[in-house]
Amino acid sequence: MTKLNLIAGEWLKGESEIENRNPSDVSDLIDMFAQAAPGQLDETLEQARIAQAQWRDYGLERKQSVLMAIGNEMMERAEELGTLLSREEGKPFAEGKGEVFRAGQFFTYYAAECLRQIGENADSVRDGIEIDVRREPVGTVAVISPWNFPTATASWKIAPALAYGNAVVWKPANATPASAVALAEIIERQDIPKGLFSLVMGSGRSIGQRLVESDKINAVSFTGSLAVGKGIASAAVNNLTKLQMEMGSKNALAVMDDADIDLAVTLALGGAFGGSGQKCTASSRLVVHKDIHDVFVEKLVAGAKALKVGHALEDGTQMGPVVSEQQLSENLAYVETGKSEGAELACGGERLEMPCKGFYMSPGVFVNTRNDMRINREEMFAPLTCVIKVDGYDEALAIVNDTNFGLTSGIVTKSLARATHFRRNVRTGVVAVNLPTAGTDYHVPFGGRGDSSYGPREQGKAAAEFYTIVKTAYISAGSPG
Ligand code: NDP
Repeated sequence: MTKLNLIAGEWLKGESEIENRNPSDVSDLIDMFAQAAPGQLDETLEQARIAQAQWRDYGLERKQSVLMAIGNEMMERAEELGTLLSREEGKPFAEGKGEVFRAGQFFTYYAAECLRQIGENADSVRDGIEIDVRREPVGTVAVISPWNFPTATASWKIAPALAYGNAVVWKPANATPASAVALAEIIERQDIPKGLFSLVMGSGRSIGQRLVESDKINAVSFTGSLAVGKGIASAAVNNLTKLQMEMGSKNALAVMDDADIDLAVTLALGGAFGGSGQKCTASSRLVVHKDIHDVFVEKLVAGAKALKVGHALEDGTQMGPVVSEQQLSENLAYVETGKSEGAELACGGERLEMPCKGFYMSPGVFVNTRNDMRINREEMFAPLTCVIKVDGYDEALAIVNDTNFGLTSGIVTKSLARATHFRRNVRTGVVAVNLPTAGTDYHVPFGGRGDSSYGPREQGKAAAEFYTIVKTAYISAGSPG
């Protein structure tokens, strides 16, 4: 049966529907999904405005209970919902289950934040006047999320949006609608005003574009590609809509001559091939000191060849398929680009035929690469990583910083001095020392620099900056008599 959109509090059919197939096995039809019609978007935005005014006035503990219930249910159902996520996105089951559990933690974290919304007060420079500074909801927030973390990314936007008193209209990626419907069903069952939360499925170019162009939204939070992000920014500026965007990246892991090599290889393999490399935090450049380069590459290539590629839900699978045929052909095109630029493919980078038909490729390692090659400049979003050999620490830092992006970076070293210098001088929003470039916490800010991010940070208390607007009140105390 077709899965429906949540429009103005009602589960409704759309103007058409799409099928959703398992990238591990395309013969597995997950379901059919309704595509919202433009008129339904207008209807749901109008109801969101009404619902937001009611939700704003709900008591703090009532809001807290709603978020806590959502988070707890997700954590309790992590196995079931993680299976669904892995089935439609292709990441191994452990990663799918872990993502759903983490998404639940975003809700329980922001449930607690409902009770921690504390403003500031001050005396005025004018006698007898007090000042009260507090944050208020922005109104209706459009959430546009990608397929690579279909549940977690949406949750780290929806949870703070609701906690700070906003209505949400969510346009998930059409590649992963099943996880979106599952989360929407949990949210809709809670004690919330009718239409406070909407799910509008449909393609980015149609319903997504119309959503970001609407003057009925007050803020847009987007995660996805740089090109789409730039288009959304233009639309948002036109209406002076508040904007927050997380986009591409080209994260580097620097491996120094004093590194624990086995640790460095483990970090590189996990960072490059976790989620089939389809992570904004993936380690797609490995900047390696010349003195340990050969032994590092030998172990890295052996590790990449040993990774078990397979069906996301099969026991023992370490890397699943990529998300779609289109993504696979773009990845294979990057392999050809790398070769034509003079990089040497040390292993992998090939389409794999499996017993069930899916979008499989072998994890690829390029060596002898230069930082000016396209494979080191563009976000490939693929199970491909590039080794760049350097003479020393200074060159390593310069190369890590030589990118238009700036989301995450990492260094593997035993030197406190180098680690400290790197931490202070690398131009990324997140930096990891002897840890993977991928994998962050939920109670602290997340975001990047350059083309990777735009607008206020996501996650932790920092999210309040985006999901609220500050009001400064002046109060004349008058005379006590
Ligand atoms: P997109 O940027 O196209 O999609 C991200 C989200 O935006 C999806 O929900 C998409 O909808 C929606 N969208 C697309 N066009 C518009 C539009 N004009 N207006 C409003 N919303 C829109 O990324 P893709 O999923 O196509 O992936 C392409 C590349 O983007 C990847 O290969 C990767 O390089 C990068 N990417 C980076 C991510 C990151 O976390 N840094 C995450 C995802 C992608 P729909 O898909 O349903 O059409």
